[in-house]
Amino acid sequence: MVTIDQGKCIGCSACTSICGDVFEMKGDKAQVKAGQEKTSNEQVKAAIAGCPVSAISE
Ligand code: SF4
Repeated sequence: MVTIDQGKCIGCSACTSICGDVFEMKGDKAQVKAGQEKTSNEQVKAAIAGCPVSAISE
């Protein structure tokens, strides 16, 4: 399950740039797109690695 800790997310939008298929911005936070929670691929892993506050996990 791909999840974003909303308390950590600073809304930098890096994850949406790296992996727009799975992540989207909602207001000033990122969220996992509906139906994409089980997606696991290299782009998701790159987004996890690229999040500056380690808010994304799977
Ligand atoms: S990369 Fe991390 S801090 Fe930036 S928008 Fe995505 S979840 Fe939030």
